[in-house]
Amino acid sequence: MTVNIPAFVKVIIDRIEGSGYEAFAVGGSLRDAMLGKTPHDWDVTTSARPETVIELFPDMRVIPTGLKHGTVTVLSEGEPIEITTYRVDGEYTDSRRPDSVSFTASVEDDLSRRDFTVNAMAYSEKRGLIDLFGGRDDLKKGIIRAVGDPEKRFTEDALRIMRAFRFSAQLGFDIEENTLEAAKKLGYRLKNIARERIGAEFMRLLASPYPEKALRMMGSVLKEILPCAPVPQDRFALAERLSPDSEARLALLLYGQTREDILNVAHALRLSNEQKRRVLLLSLPATEDFSDITPCVVRRLLRHYGEDFLSAARIGGLLGIAPVSLETILEAEAAKKPCLSVSALAISGSDLMAEGIAFGKDVGRILSALLEAVLDDPSLNEKEKLIDIAKKLVH
Ligand code: ATP
Ligand code: MG
Repeated sequence: MTVNIPAFVKVIIDRIEGSGYEAFAVGGSLRDAMLGKTPHDWDVTTSARPETVIELFPDMRVIPTGLKHGTVTVLSEGEPIEITTYRVDGEYTDSRRPDSVSFTASVEDDLSRRDFTVNAMAYSEKRGLIDLFGGRDDLKKGIIRAVGDPEKRFTEDALRIMRAFRFSAQLGFDIEENTLEAAKKLGYRLKNIARERIGAEFMRLLASPYPEKALRMMGSVLKEILPCAPVPQDRFALAERLSPDSEARLALLLYGQTREDILNVAHALRLSNEQKRRVLLLSLPATEDFSDITPCVVRRLLRHYGEDFLSAARIGGLLGIAPVSLETILEAEAAKKPCLSVSALAISGSDLMAEGIAFGKDVGRILSALLEAVLDDPSLNEKEKLIDIAKKLVH
């Protein structure tokens, strides 16, 4: 069994081994490499202590990222590699983080503390693949399986429950029966986990290629993390048909719920203001009626949804509340670059004042009225015409 390890990682492993210590590619990076994917970051596990690792790389930039946990990051050919000393986790009293971590001399111990079999393999060219829990087999079969007793592992750290569903969505894998049963049984323990970590895992799940199956498997865990009315099951498949945009997919899941429930979910998942804005925009029905698509309505939809008009049309189409052709219609109108905002009018507030038409609060009111007129008839967006209309509006 050989795994394709890039040269900038090999250099690191070779140097540590050359100094008499063990070193392996490990974890998610090895998993992805074995699947033929390009890992986004590389992890190395080693018997050398962090101080030793720092000494071994005087010629490279070394960042002491997590010395307490035994991790240093080395920049190899500009690529960050996380090198972590073999460790075992101590007791978990809060099912969040171990009370302590301690270093160990055996790679077997280090692999045993890892969450899933596909994440618990180690590889070096010299020593080959170390696969104590059947990770390679599970990788072939497409299975996420806890290392050891799933109930014990999820009780230790409930975030692993979210990670199981997220890996399933990313890889399109099933979750092994006992692992899934334990995840659902212990889902309530997610209350011990920081909300932003749950939110981050859930948004990563939604941005993955295969969210449908993962969402279906979540069952009661989904209810645990989304404080809103139950999400209809048929939405899971529809969400997967959207592009992998976590906010648009969440909006589709929540579409039609009350504003209050949607805000509760945004808060529970600790979404950023921008994420919250998009989810609200795409999950609340627009005031314009999707069923009567006149050019005036199309321009108002473009104004309402801004950059997200295609996502909105696609969500409407998938939910059967907008004609499927809406996407094409919106795109064709957007290509004409119509005036959709007050700032794109051929007249400004200072023009209105210079002409003596309006002052103070009236300026904004008149500009809004002019925009409505231009949305109805784009040919009116000329300075002279707008001045005429404005004059009539004030008289
Ligand atoms: P990705 O980087 O795509 O999220 P990953 O598998 O690399 O996936 P990381 O969070 O980067 O995940 O962690 C690296 C490795 O550390 C994992 O593959 C796993 O072996 C171990 N690990 C991470 N988090 C946990 C956890 N909560 N419990 C047990 N092991 C974990
Ligand atoms: Mg990783």
